[in-house]
Amino acid sequence: LMHLTKKLIEIRSMLISIDQSDALKLPSIVVIGSQSSGKSSVLEAIVGHEFLPKGNNMVTRRPIELTLIHTPAKPGQPAPVEYGEFPGLGIGKLTNFSDIQRTLTDLNLAVPSNEAVSNDPIDLRIYSPNVPDLTLIDLPGYVQISSLDQPETLKEQIAGLCEKYIREPNIILAVCAADVDLANSPALRASRKVDPLGLRTIGVVTKMDLVSPEQGAGILTGNRYPLHLGYVGVVAKASGTPGKGETKALVARRSESEYFKEHADAFGVGGESAMMVGTATLRRRLMEVLESSMASSLHGITNAVQLELEEAAYQFKVQYNDRRISPESYVAETMDHLKLRFQKATEHFKRPIVRAKLRSMLEDKVMDVLEQLYWLDKRAPELGALGQDPRLKPEDLEPYWHHKLEAASSLLTKSGVGRDSTIMVADGLRALIDSIAGGEPFNCHPRAAERLIEFSHMILRDRIGVTSDQVENCIKPFKYDVDVEPREWEAGRERAVEMYEKELTDCEKKLGEIKNKVGGGRRLGNLIGYVKTLEEKRQQREKEKAAKRLENVGNSGGAEEASSSISPLRQELEADDSPESYRYPPAQILDARVAMMYSERLHILKLRLAALKSKRCKAGPQSEAFCPEAFLNVVADKLAYTSSLFINIELLEHFFYQFPREIDSRLLYDLDRKEIVDFARENPVVRRHLDLQERKDKLEEVMKQLNSLSTLRADPQPKQRRQ
Ligand code: GDP
Repeated sequence: LMHLTKKLIEIRSMLISIDQSDALKLPSIVVIGSQSSGKSSVLEAIVGHEFLPKGNNMVTRRPIELTLIHTPAKPGQPAPVEYGEFPGLGIGKLTNFSDIQRTLTDLNLAVPSNEAVSNDPIDLRIYSPNVPDLTLIDLPGYVQISSLDQPETLKEQIAGLCEKYIREPNIILAVCAADVDLANSPALRASRKVDPLGLRTIGVVTKMDLVSPEQGAGILTGNRYPLHLGYVGVVAKASGTPGKGETKALVARRSESEYFKEHADAFGVGGESAMMVGTATLRRRLMEVLESSMASSLHGITNAVQLELEEAAYQFKVQYNDRRISPESYVAETMDHLKLRFQKATEHFKRPIVRAKLRSMLEDKVMDVLEQLYWLDKRAPELGALGQDPRLKPEDLEPYWHHKLEAASSLLTKSGVGRDSTIMVADGLRALIDSIAGGEPFNCHPRAAERLIEFSHMILRDRIGVTSDQVENCIKPFKYDVDVEPREWEAGRERAVEMYEKELTDCEKKLGEIKNKVGGGRRLGNLIGYVKTLEEKRQQREKEKAAKRLENVGNSGGAEEASSSISPLRQELEADDSPESYRYPPAQILDARVAMMYSERLHILKLRLAALKSKRCKAGPQSEAFCPEAFLNVVADKLAYTSSLFINIELLEHFFYQFPREIDSRLLYDLDRKEIVDFARENPVVRRHLDLQERKDKLEEVMKQLNSLSTLRADPQPKQRRQ
C-alpha cells in the first residue's frame, strides 16, 4: 500500500501540471494555523530538518507545495543523500537545508510588501530516506492582530487563500497550541466551515509541554470539538543544544519522546484508550489518512481523467488529424521552408532578368540625357531635318552634333553606373529578404526575422563596395570608345523607337488629362493663347529693360542697382495689373504651361520618331550623329550586359552562397532545447498544437499509471504468483 501513495503523489504532480481545475485534483494535506501556533515547527519535525523561513515579519507569503518523497535505503548500500528541489526554478538539487531555507525566504520576500500574500504556490520537493511519502501545503498563518506595516486587508487575504486550499478533497491539518483555548483557534474555526463533521480534519495540538499533562490529555480526547480523524499532541521544540552531528530536529524529537515517556500514564500510552501523541504518530497518522483519502479519490479521478483524455484525443483528431509535431520538427520545417523560398527567389535574380532590369534603369538615364542635351536644344529640329536629307553624308554633319553625341555618351557612361546598378540589385535582394522576414512564418518570430535582416545586410554591406568598383572598372572602356556592330545598331534603333512610342503615348495621355481638367480642347487652346501673350509681353519688357540698362551703364551705376532689387515676382504682378490677368484662375494658367511643355515634347518626339524610322537611320552605325537615341541605347545595353556580368559574380553569387550558410550556422542551429521550444511556441498555431498534444500525452501517461494502480490493487501479490 505504501507504493500506492507514492504513485498517487506522482500522479498528483502530473495532474497539477496538466491543469489546475478541481476535477483533476488528488488530495493533499493542507496545513493551517494561526501565527506562532507552531506550524513551522510541526512541519520541520515531520521532515526532520529546519528549512522553513523564520522571522517575526510574517515570512510565509506564498503557499508552499511541499512534496515529500521517500527514497528507501537499499540494503548494503550507503543511505541515499537527502536533498530538496525547486522544480520551477531549475537550480538543481540542494543538499544543504539552509540553502532551501534561504531560497524559500527569498521567494517569499520577492512578493511585494503591498501585496503581502500571493496565490502563486512555491513547488518544493524533498527526497529523503527519512521522510514519508506525503504532500503538504504550507499556508501563511492566520494573523490575529494586524501590525502597522501590513495592509488592512491582510487578514481577509490570508483567510481567502486558506479557504481556497481547504476545499475538498484536501485534508486539513489544523494546528492549535495547547496553551490557547481551542475555542479561539482560527484553524478549527475555518475547518468547521468547510468540514462541519470533521471528516477530513486532523487536529494537531502543539506545545503540549506548556500545559499540564492532564489538561493536555483533556484537549486530545476531543470531547469539546470532536474530529473524526482525531487530535495528535506534539512537542515540537528542542530543549537543549544539539550535540555533534545532531540536528535541532533530532534533539526536538528526543525531548518530545522523553516528555511523553515521562507522562505516559496521563496519555494512556500502551493502554486501550491510548491517545495519539508524538511526531512519529503524527507522521503515521498523516500517511494513513492521505493514503485512504487518495485511495477513495482514485475511482473518481480515474473517471475524470478518462473523460478529459477522451476529449483531448477527440480534439487532437479533429483539429490536427492526429499529426504529431515537436518544437524540433517545427524548427527544421521552418528552415527548410526558408531555404526553399530563398531558392525560388533566386530565379528572379538570373542574369537575363537582372540585365533587363539594369537596361531599363539605364534607358531612363538615356531619356534624361536626351532631354537635357537634345530636346531642350533650340537646334533640335534641325538635326531631324538634316537626317531626312538624303544628299547629306555623315561627314557633312556639323561638328556640333558630333560633340553633342560624345557628350551624351560620356554623360551616360560616367553617371556612376557601377554604384547605381549595384545598389539597384542590392535593393532587390533587400526587398526579397524583407518580404521573407515579414511573411509566414517569420511574422510570428520577430527576433529571428530581425536576425535574417541583419545577416543579409551584413553580407550586402560587405559586397556593395567591391562590386560597384569592379563594375565601374569593367565599363571603363566604354567611357572612351564604343564600337557598334550593325546588328547592335538595328536592335538599339528598334528599342529607341519603342521607347519614344511609349513616351509619346504617355505625353498624349497627360495632355488629354489636362484638356479634361480645364474643360475641353478649345478652352485649353484659349488658355495657351493667353499664356503665350503673357510670355510675349514679358519678353517685350525684358528687351526694354535691357535697353534701359545699357543707357544707365552710360550714365551712372546707382539706378541699375535700385531697379534690380525689385523682386521679379512683384515686377510680373505689376506688369500683369491689367483686367485681363484675372480672366483665368492661376491653377489653370499653370495647367496651360504644363500642357505647352507636353505639346512641345510631343512635337520633338514625332520629329525624332520620323528620324529614327528614316532610311538614313536604318542604314547603320555610321548615322550615329543623326540618331543619338539609337547609339545611346546600344551603349545602355552594353553597360547593362557588362554590369550584370560582374554583379552576378561579385554580388549575387556571394550572397546566394553565403546567406543560406549564415542561416545554418547562426539563425537557429545553435539554439538549445529551451530556445527551440520558445521559438516554436512564438507561433500561435504551433503553440496551440503543442499544448493540446502535450495535454493528451500527459493524460495518457496519467491514465496508464492509474490503470497500473488498479491492477496493483486487484492483484496484491503479483510477485508470488509469477513464480
Ligand atoms: P508558526 O508561526 O506557527 O510557524 O510557529 P513556529 O513553529 O515558528 O513556533 C512559534 C514559537 O513557538 C517558536 O518560538 C517555537 O519555538 C515555539 N514552539 C513551537 N512548538 C513548540 C512546542 O511544542 N513547545 C514549546 N514550548 N514551544 C514551541
